[in-house]
Amino acid sequence: MQVNAISLKIRLILSMVLLSIFSIATVGWFAHAQLIKRFDEGIANDVAMHINKGVSTYIATYGSWEEAEKKESLFHFLEKHPEITHKPHSDEEGLFHLLGSNTLSKEIDDTDHKLSMLSMQFHLFDPQFRSLVDLPPYRRGFTVLDEDRNSLKPILMNGKVVAYFLMAKNIIHSPVDDAYAALIRNSLITGSIVAALMALVVGSLMSLRLVRRLEQLTEAVNAIDTGQMNQFVEHAGNDEIGKLAQAFNRMSERLYLADKHLRESHQQIEEQAKLLKEQSFRDPLTRLYNRRYIDQTGTKTFEHAVRLNQPFSAMIGDIDFFKSINDRFSHAIGDLVLQEVATILLQQTRTTDIVARYGGEEFVILFPEVAISKAAFCCEQIRLAITQHNWQPIHPELQVSISIGLAEHTEENSLSTLIRHADLRLYKAKSNGRNQVVSLD
Ligand code: GH3
Ligand code: MG
Ligand code: MG
Repeated sequence: MQVNAISLKIRLILSMVLLSIFSIATVGWFAHAQLIKRFDEGIANDVAMHINKGVSTYIATYGSWEEAEKKESLFHFLEKHPEITHKPHSDEEGLFHLLGSNTLSKEIDDTDHKLSMLSMQFHLFDPQFRSLVDLPPYRRGFTVLDEDRNSLKPILMNGKVVAYFLMAKNIIHSPVDDAYAALIRNSLITGSIVAALMALVVGSLMSLRLVRRLEQLTEAVNAIDTGQMNQFVEHAGNDEIGKLAQAFNRMSERLYLADKHLRESHQQIEEQAKLLKEQSFRDPLTRLYNRRYIDQTGTKTFEHAVRLNQPFSAMIGDIDFFKSINDRFSHAIGDLVLQEVATILLQQTRTTDIVARYGGEEFVILFPEVAISKAAFCCEQIRLAITQHNWQPIHPELQVSISIGLAEHTEENSLSTLIRHADLRLYKAKSNGRNQVVSLD
């Protein structure tokens, strides 16, 4: 498994457990080593005390080492005087009961065994530094090695050195000592296991809480990524994650406000663009569509009708003698006439018809899905409405009429051709005396 694939939760728990096991093992090992060292020192002191006492009593009993050895060996002497050598305390006996070892208790009572153990714990030298007992590396009679000379401990009698003893290199543990060491070791192992289990539980709880908080942050970041702004995460505590959560909340709020502002601006821009587009298609004086609209949208509508094989008619109307209206009544009155004509055109058409001011005093109306007969009727209504309109409010002497040319899509392949066709008929209407609709060539 790749390290990256392991979740943060598992990694945290693992590292906490491993770290705690490692620290516990280090402390345990160190404590064990120190205890065993102290333990060995205790044994050494104990042995030293008994040796000192045993040897000095041995020599004192027979006068000198040589004399004593002729009579009996040191260990034989000690065997006869067990009160000189160490006896297990009652609490040690209790320890064996605790450990459930009856055989060990029996061994403790075995004086021979104790003595043989005691004999293995030290070397004995006469005042001339010659070994008095056989215990490797010293054979009896061998002189003490220089490296051991400083470790020699004198055995004094009446202020005079009667012998030296040297603790053996390897201290031999008695069953009691081994039982103590085993108890210490077991306690340390049990303690380590309990501590590791506690580390596992505490580590799991801590890492779960830590990871939960990180998950909340991740969920909030993902929510922002999907467009759900203004996320808020709880920031219990003032630790690194708490500070991260606070920073995230501040950032999230700023992001939300910026996003809101951006959306509002975007909406405004869209509205303005729509307005601009609308305005670009409108004639400012009459508010009718303009020629650009006819060229763009009108063309699309025309092509759609052609594709569906639907009828499509177009008319072009031109106010008669408009120049003289301007000249007689003023340009402002001319503008009012244009606005009034525009209103009449809208009134006389359907919403699906496209009414536009095509130029000066010229108007175009597109009739999608309308055949020429029906469109001719509509145009006639327009002409009548304009002629019969009450123009007095604008000017008492004002009279307005319009000439209209009308054509229907037949073989025309474009809207401009259709309008040109209608324009030819308008020209005909003008030349025929104006104030009329011409829908035939
Ligand atoms: P006809 O019957 O042959 O169409 O004669 P007409 O006088 O209407 O035609 P002509 O083309 O000679 O004159 C059109 C006039 O329309 C000329 C121009 O000053 C006027 N005109 C064009 N646009 C505007 C406008 O926006 N406002 C006003 N008041 N007059 C305009
Ligand atoms: Mg004209
Ligand atoms: Mg005109």
